Amino acid sequence: MPSDCVFCKIANKEMESEIVYEDSDVVAFKDISPAAPVHLLVVPRKHISTHQEVLEEDAYLLGKIHMVINELARAFQIEEDGYRVIVNCGKHSGQVVYHLHFHLLGGKPLTDSLAEGRGA
Ligand code: 5GP
Ligand code: ZN
Repeated sequence: MPSDCVFCKIANKEMESEIVYEDSDVVAFKDISPAAPVHLLVVPRKHISTHQEVLEEDAYLLGKIHMVINELARAFQIEEDGYRVIVNCGKHSGQVVYHLHFHLLGGKPLTDSLAEGRGA
């Protein structure tokens, strides 16, 4: 794990955050700068820098993350109205923290534009 990785530090409790879920593989916490009433970040404890670095051996971990997202959507009562799950990968996506994370956003109608400047 890179010593300067913010999300490794949060997962290891070396840095403050509002953790809402944790198990041996996955940690979820509130985004420090929420873009919606519910804005959680769900991360693997394993340091994976981007979506491109996901390996076949991570398949179980990735599946588990999605189960945790479903559980959190129910816990935060956004499962009925719906929500959005986002992974940014690399420069064009605007990825800022290079530790794989899944944004879980909900609690209000979200913009229908998936990307600014939509259109090929
Ligand atoms: P990205 O653009 O990399 O997909 O998103 C990174 C997210 O992490 C942003 O939404 C940002 O607000 C959040 N974030 C960055 N630093 C921290 C932090 O120290 N604590 C928490 N809880 N969230 C953070
Ligand atoms: Zn990390």
